[in-house]
Amino acid sequence: MKFLLLLAVVGIALWLFKSRHRVSGPKKPPPQAKPGTPAAGTTPMLACAHCGVHLPQTDAVFEPAGRAYCSAAHLQAGPR
Ligand SMILES: [Zn+2]
Repeated sequence: MKFLLLLAVVGIALWLFKSRHRVSGPKKPPPQAKPGTPAAGTTPMLACAHCGVHLPQTDAVFEPAGRAYCSAAHLQAGPR
């Protein structure tokens, strides 16, 4: 029974130490996104040249001229 109590006390002490250490740690300033460049981890959004809907660059369909479309159907329909 004493062993269990000791284990609980040690566990609580460790938990308190960890939570306190996390709060008092050095605060890093949030990374500032440079204007004009997409932030890390985000996908640039493009507008479909036909219907104008915005979609992630990874989902866009590109024509050889470089225009982006939301789908192959709009790629075939061409710019509006
Ligand atoms: Zn479209």
